[in-house]
Amino acid sequence: PMVREHFLENNAPKPKIVTKLSSNENPYGPPKSAQDAIAESAKRGNRYAWQEMYDLVDKIAKKEGVTAENIMMGPGSSDLLEKTALVLFKDGGNVVSADPCYMSLVNVAKSVGATWKAIPCKSDWSHDLKAMEAAIDKDTKLVYICNPNNPTGAITSGKELLDFCSRVSEKVPVFVDEAYLELAEGADTQSMVSLVAQGKNVMVARTFSKIMGMAGIRVGYMAALPATLEKIQKITRGGMGIAYTSIFAASASMDDHAFQDMTRKQNTEARQYLCSNLDKMGYQYIPSYTNFVIFPINMPGKELLGKMSAKGIGVKAYDILNKPWCRVSIGTMDEMKQFVGALQELS
Ligand code: PLP
Repeated sequence: PMVREHFLENNAPKPKIVTKLSSNENPYGPPKSAQDAIAESAKRGNRYAWQEMYDLVDKIAKKEGVTAENIMMGPGSSDLLEKTALVLFKDGGNVVSADPCYMSLVNVAKSVGATWKAIPCKSDWSHDLKAMEAAIDKDTKLVYICNPNNPTGAITSGKELLDFCSRVSEKVPVFVDEAYLELAEGADTQSMVSLVAQGKNVMVARTFSKIMGMAGIRVGYMAALPATLEKIQKITRGGMGIAYTSIFAASASMDDHAFQDMTRKQNTEARQYLCSNLDKMGYQYIPSYTNFVIFPINMPGKELLGKMSAKGIGVKAYDILNKPWCRVSIGTMDEMKQFVGALQELS
């Protein structure tokens, strides 16, 4: 693998992180509409929420243009990535994905005995779909795509990905993680959920943690063929881990288009501010279609983490291709000003 993440030493003093730019959260959430829904529904929290969840599933299915049988819910999409990996790789096999990519599914697959076929991204950091298709062999149980990708923030062309998923899913299931897709609106990419509606063996994961601003409220879902979901739910039930209140928050946030539009607008403005300052300082970032930006730095990752955390700022540090990189999430404009100021003091 070409990526290694750095962490602060366990025994290092831990200054309080007040500016949290490490986990690609939405600084504006949860929307007020969702907060109100949580407060109101908390009174009924003595009950299991199965019926309320079926209502949410119907609403999601309608939005995605699929049926309720195509939807499985989870407390965040992490739960669905991990359950898919547990069930599909319990008898071994291999998973094909880009390198770098988001590692949750791959790590769980590896931990139950699968091998990882890591296919380097292209020079523009998009998926090398040709090489990924060529890497599929008789032991491949799943192809995992993260679009837009994390930790790069790069996108893969929607049309090329649609062709790829449509063709490759005839051989092996394709899992497409669309955690950041709503933030890439208007860019040359698109959701793969239409393929599920066409009966293709494609799984699409989405989350309320990013555009909806509810990372701590924990709601996500997956759209897939009913047979695929049955296979997973025979072992581990979907939706069981979601709190009553979270179901109502999810439903309210789906209707709150004003909040989603505001998030996109503020995110774009703060990202542009960050990138124009990185330009001025000579940092060569990867163009981002998400709420984070990654760029090579001129000091070891651990040193950057130490210096940033001493200023109360949390970011992530990676080695990619043996060079140190910083990944910073897009916070509010004020937070980005703080980060830019801190970076200026370091260089
Ligand atoms: N997929 C990607 C690409 C992510 O970056 C994240 C979180 O950062 C997740 C999935 C998991 O998010 P959640 O479990 O909050 O839905």
